[in-house]
Amino acid sequence: MEIERILLTQEELQARVKELGAVLSAEYAEKTPVFVGVLRGAVHFFTDLMLHFPHPCQYDFIGAASYGDGTQSSGQVMLTKDVMTDLQGRHVVVVEDILDTGLTLRFVTDWLKGKNPASLKLCVLLDKPARRRADISADYIGFTIPNEFVVGYGLDYQELYRNLPYIGILKP
Ligand code: 5GP
Repeated sequence: MEIERILLTQEELQARVKELGAVLSAEYAEKTPVFVGVLRGAVHFFTDLMLHFPHPCQYDFIGAASYGDGTQSSGQVMLTKDVMTDLQGRHVVVVEDILDTGLTLRFVTDWLKGKNPASLKLCVLLDKPARRRADISADYIGFTIPNEFVVGYGLDYQELYRNLPYIGILKP
């Protein structure tokens, strides 16, 4: 498989992530939030975003898997790793790579709400609203993208391409 074209360049990603960091800073500067990254796709977005949040905060990670090896969601979501932090009464921001059908984030946010946080918001780098199946929307969105299967900047196809510094579309 090869990259057919670049959808978002490294420069576009970095500029938007910086803007999102500023938005989160305005909202959470005094709240010592817990940022919960969803493994593994959010890894680059999470770490870059955090470098633009210069206020007290904590990190944690949750693992969820729904895709298997293909490009279609199986609809089945599995928790592969739970958070370690006690979220009771905390301000939680879930950081994820992409909101597609929404089934993964519906499951993850419901799971985390069960831990009684003071607030829970959702920050996604990419939103693909065309394929939504679950009733969920993000509070903070980097880019709304068309219905294409994208890779890079953490997003994989069969576990490859996560290390691309840009987001691209694969040749069919
Ligand atoms: P959802 O449950 O919203 O359908 O999808 C969630 C997960 O599916 C994402 O965390 C991501 O891992 C994967 N996914 C959805 N759309 C894409 C895509 O366009 N490219 C890649 N590489 N993964 C995707």
